[in-house]
Amino acid sequence: MTAFFALLAAVALIAWWRLRLQAREEAAQHARELAELRERQRLELEHHEHRLETLLDSMIEGLVVLDAHGRITLTNRAAETLFGFSRQMVGGTLLEAIRHHEVAALAARLETEPAILDHELRLEGPPPRILQVNAVALRGAADVGAGAMLVFHDLTRVRELEGARQEFVANVSHELRTPLSLIKSAAETLLDGAKADPAALDRLLQIIDRHADRLTLLIDDLLLLAKLDSGRIELRPEPSPLRAATQEVFGDLAKRAQGREVRLENAIPAGLVAQADPDRLRQVLSNLVDNGIKYGRSGGVLTVSARPLDGGKVEVCVRDDGPGIPAESLGRVFERFYRVDKARSREQGGTGLGLAIVKHAVQAHGGEVRVESEPGQGAAFFFTLPAA
Ligand code: ADP
Repeated sequence: MTAFFALLAAVALIAWWRLRLQAREEAAQHARELAELRERQRLELEHHEHRLETLLDSMIEGLVVLDAHGRITLTNRAAETLFGFSRQMVGGTLLEAIRHHEVAALAARLETEPAILDHELRLEGPPPRILQVNAVALRGAADVGAGAMLVFHDLTRVRELEGARQEFVANVSHELRTPLSLIKSAAETLLDGAKADPAALDRLLQIIDRHADRLTLLIDDLLLLAKLDSGRIELRPEPSPLRAATQEVFGDLAKRAQGREVRLENAIPAGLVAQADPDRLRQVLSNLVDNGIKYGRSGGVLTVSARPLDGGKVEVCVRDDGPGIPAESLGRVFERFYRVDKARSREQGGTGLGLAIVKHAVQAHGGEVRVESEPGQGAAFFFTLPAA
């Protein structure tokens, strides 16, 4: 009997022990699952945060989010670059990070106004910038202030382009007005009685004719440039032998070269062929050779040479031995209407658009232009084109 109870107690003990073990295992399993869940959630959160950060950093606009106490809780790369602060400024105030009282004042205004839109802000720089700021107050539960969000849009480039467009329109008007007013005053002089004098009649009609030609040239150049600029001109690239193209241009400009006693030398090796639209190639060569004749040395030499380049390209060089271009103008000669010597250019019948056309026509082929010049040592204009 005693043995029976002892056996019963042992079985019960073993059963209890097993249950305890099982409970422990289940608790451990539960803890493991919980830890895994937490880890998964942590990774997911990290992943979301990373995606949000990537998204915000890919924005062009600068973003700064403030909490209810005016401390920065979130920024993006654009904002950091615009104001030159680092992400460590998170936790600091707007004034500490941006050091701009106008921005801090804007954020302060959001305590009484729900939003401030299209506010324009000038940063002194360097470089100086114009920013458009949109600022909104963030509202939490029960409409309690929960901070603010400021978005900065950099308008500097847009304003620069607007300025360039206005300058271009002003330049065009000026360029058109000059020959027009000369034509008008010649016509008025004729109407006032000068037509009775055969010598005056001849001289004034020549003025009208010359300036009407200049207007036509200017309008043609403007239209061509506008077409090149907008990509509206259709290029028909074909294998174009460079030596022959240059020879053709020399033929067209032979009279002008003779007039200034400039010797034209074609140093392009036969067999060098570019893949280019023949009309545009002729235009590029013609503008550069014409400039070399106009601005080069009277009695000098103008040489056109070319060589193959690595990467399936050819480079053409138009070089004169004239006075050259001052260093401070080298970076600007390809700009529309930029002239080193305005009077000289006008006297030579220049429109101020020749090199801008060269640049756009070459770039439309995927090529590049550049100029080298040492004052007194002539000027060398280079352009590249794809080789055929
Ligand atoms: P333009 O109609 O005045 O010739 P371009 O655009 O062809 O206009 O040239 C711009 C300016 O660059 C010219 O006015 C001139 O001052 C300068 N330039 C161009 N080519 C030469 C050159 N070969 N030597 C010296 N100056 C040059």
